[in-house]
Amino acid sequence: MKIVVLKFGGTSVGTIEKIKKVSRIIGEFRKKKYKVIVVSSAMSGVTNELVKKSRLISENFSENEYDVLVSSGEQMACSLIAGRLINNGFKSRSWLGWQLPIFTYGPHKNSRIYQINKNKIIKYLREGGIPIIAGFQGINKENRITTIGRGGSDASAIMLAKFFKAKRCIIYTDVEGVFTTDPNKLSKAKKIKVISYEEMLEMASLGAKVMQPVSIQDARLNRIDIEVKSSFTNRPGTLITKKSNITKNKIITGISSTHNDSKVTLVGVKDRPGVAASIFKPLSINSINVDMVVQNISANGKETDLTFTIKTDDLNKTKRIIKENKKINFRKILFEKGVSKISIIGVGMITTPGVTFRMFQSLSSKNINIQVISTSEIKISVLINSKDVKKALIVLHKEFKLDK
Ligand code: ADP
Ligand code: ASP
Ligand code: MG
Repeated sequence: MKIVVLKFGGTSVGTIEKIKKVSRIIGEFRKKKYKVIVVSSAMSGVTNELVKKSRLISENFSENEYDVLVSSGEQMACSLIAGRLINNGFKSRSWLGWQLPIFTYGPHKNSRIYQINKNKIIKYLREGGIPIIAGFQGINKENRITTIGRGGSDASAIMLAKFFKAKRCIIYTDVEGVFTTDPNKLSKAKKIKVISYEEMLEMASLGAKVMQPVSIQDARLNRIDIEVKSSFTNRPGTLITKKSNITKNKIITGISSTHNDSKVTLVGVKDRPGVAASIFKPLSINSINVDMVVQNISANGKETDLTFTIKTDDLNKTKRIIKENKKINFRKILFEKGVSKISIIGVGMITTPGVTFRMFQSLSSKNINIQVISTSEIKISVLINSKDVKKALIVLHKEFKLDK
């Protein structure tokens, strides 16, 4: 069977008009004799509204019920798409995760798909039907509804492409593909024709929300090529594929940035083996994601200052956990909202000396202060004040010739 998986993101199904447009795209693939499996996210804004409601009902809303609640947006979008296709003369129906089922493991809110039961869908495709499958959701061993992390319908699409051995997997979104940086933040951003899984994974993990990071890991493990394109125009998009398919590399492929980060500094922490573990263990147990970390030894060698970053959403919880932590001694704790991480990403930096220097010098030429630095083989990240993000994007985009 020549199968294509088409995934539509929230903005692509954000209004009735857009759902009608999406239904036309699906119809065109049928004309090309593809068997089409559709994956949809919730209409844009709906999942955010549901998350808000969960917080209003309870500060400690049950995670099982959170998944039941926030996965409900996809049900609405899928039935509307199916309804439109039926209106257009096609055979179509919606399927929720539990109806296949799509099996997941791991914690609620952040489960991972490991198995998809194909029988019903294969039968339906053979009968000429177009299944519209809800992204972002599945069930676990206890038969409870799970979700797979914000932006997770990207991963649903990749896993469907894997299990159904699809010939193509296309992610439709509201931009024309993956750009050198978020085109909604920098108008000079350029569309990238082809990008490796490794670079895309870094870009996504470092803030490029166009693809969910887990979905790129799944695609890389299973060698699934992903086409990212716009559901509004019919221009060529971006291909995400393995490195060996890419002939030309720039030094830097893209720049990502985060927002809503906060910085926490513990001043005068009594330095002894295991102190960092004592600080971070309770945070990790409470699902707080600690990102950049720096530790400075103080002059007397007995005390240390420890700085780390977290999402601002987790700030209050973090304050509480640290203040209640009896295992650590420190003199003072400082919190700063409004910091952002800017990262440059590219496999080209492995073989090109001087990239770090060029990054730091460009930032300093605009008087942008670097607070924390972290690097890996193919990325350099710095923490800066959020008010400087735009300036930093402009100067780095130019420095690494991404404007061209
Ligand atoms: P969808 O609803 O289709 O899943 P998302 O909102 O999750 O769409 O992702 C698309 C958005 O990602 C774009 O509107 C854009 O603002 C943002 N984005 C961030 N970084 C990039 C990038 N490097 N290239 C393209 N889009 C990006
Ligand atoms: N609707 C979900 C979310 O907003 C999943 C997705 O968009 O992929 O996170
Ligand atoms: Mg998304």
